[in-house]
Amino acid sequence: MLRIRFKLAILAEVNKMAEGRCMKCKKNVEIKSPEDVVMKNGMKAIKGLCGVCGTKVFRIVGKAK
Ligand SMILES: [Zn+2]
Repeated sequence: MLRIRFKLAILAEVNKMAEGRCMKCKKNVEIKSPEDVVMKNGMKAIKGLCGVCGTKVFRIVGKAK
C-alpha cells in the first residue's frame, strides 16, 4: 500500500511540471516558474518562461471552475 501512495506522489509531481510551446524555440519546452492565471474569458492558463531561451511562454489549460 505504501508503494502505491509513493507512485501517486510522483504522478502529482509530474503534473506540476508545466510544458508549453515556445514561439522562439518552435517546440514544446518546460515552463520555468509557471504561474496559474485565469483569463478574462474564464479560461485557465499557465504562464512562465521558456526553460531553454527564457522567452515568455503561455499555455491554455482549460476552463476555470
Ligand atoms: Zn524558448
